[in-house]
Amino acid sequence: MPIMLDYYLHDMDAANDFARKALGRMKKDGIPAVPQNYEVWYVYYANVNPKLRDEINAIIKENDKLTVRDCQDLYEKYINSGQDKETVQRAGDQIRATLNDVSGVVRNVKTVTADYTGSLQNVKNKVTEATTPAEMKSFVDEIQHDTERLLQYSTQLEKRLDESSIIMDELKRDIDRIRREAVTDGLTGLANRKSFDEQIARIWRDCKKNGGTFSLLMVDIDHFKNFNDNYGHLIGDQVLRLVAMTMINKVKGQDMAARFGGEEFAVILPETNITAAFTVAENLRQAIEQKEIINRSTGKQLGRITVSIGAAQYYGLEDVEGLITRADRALYKAKNKGRNQVAKAETPHDMA
Ligand code: GH3
Ligand code: MG
Ligand code: MG
Repeated sequence: MPIMLDYYLHDMDAANDFARKALGRMKKDGIPAVPQNYEVWYVYYANVNPKLRDEINAIIKENDKLTVRDCQDLYEKYINSGQDKETVQRAGDQIRATLNDVSGVVRNVKTVTADYTGSLQNVKNKVTEATTPAEMKSFVDEIQHDTERLLQYSTQLEKRLDESSIIMDELKRDIDRIRREAVTDGLTGLANRKSFDEQIARIWRDCKKNGGTFSLLMVDIDHFKNFNDNYGHLIGDQVLRLVAMTMINKVKGQDMAARFGGEEFAVILPETNITAAFTVAENLRQAIEQKEIINRSTGKQLGRITVSIGAAQYYGLEDVEGLITRADRALYKAKNKGRNQVAKAETPHDMA
């Protein structure tokens, strides 16, 4: 169920003004106007979320503009999380209300059952003293009346239980969906940035504690801006999905492929050294290079795309951010050496 956010309540002129500013800004910064990026900038100009505004202002002060990656982070942090929270809260309220309702009916049934047992006992006592058919009939009538009343309540209970089990099923589906969506990137179906952050933090902690190792690949599509400019963002999105599909096919088991932001992906390889990580990266690079891009609606061939990959192994010396920085630098090395290749990161030792 969509939630009415405050910024949907602006009048039309104001809303158009925010939209124009948001689109203009995205165009200037080269950010694709997909709904998530747009929402971040719209909320910024509508000035309805001071924290988001402060954070954007801080980023602009530092870097002049937001990157696609920034937009993605801000969206997850300020916009998406709130919606999920609200849906979960609503589900909680509904579960509480349903349980209250059912336990009210159960309480009624209990009272009625106790009354019924009492009146059965009563009638049993009286029956032994009955002398005439008329007296007998009035006892039977009494039992019949009480039995009907009990039946009514138990039918009511059954109906309520049926209803509440349907509601509970719906809520369960909602919550399952939110759980799934919370960890999945909407466009590509890969793990999203949030679950990447959580997973890498988990593995890092584990390796730090137990002295293990893991590797990280940072994958970036080559000249993707050209591709977008030539064929449009919708085709660009299809290419992102194609790359993601290839990653899903190539990254298996305990390894995790995620959309890091924009046209960048990350792969976490637990218990993997740099040599093995390089091989995985090289396989992935080749698999992507081999895919032919075809415009599904026209059947026209759009050529091929390639990726550059930076690979870094964790040696127990840095935090997660340090590892990502090294993998990022290796990625830029691969770009500078001509793209469509894998580069190994310098070790933290080399850097020091
Ligand atoms: P390089 O080889 O150096 O990586 O060049 P590039 O053009 O790939 O890199 P750059 O960072 O200049 O441009 C990235 C482009 O990716 C900008 C943006 O238009 C596009 N992009 C980012 N996210 C999305 C998305 O979700 N959908 C689409 N269609 N395009 C996106
Ligand atoms: Mg990039
Ligand atoms: Mg790129």
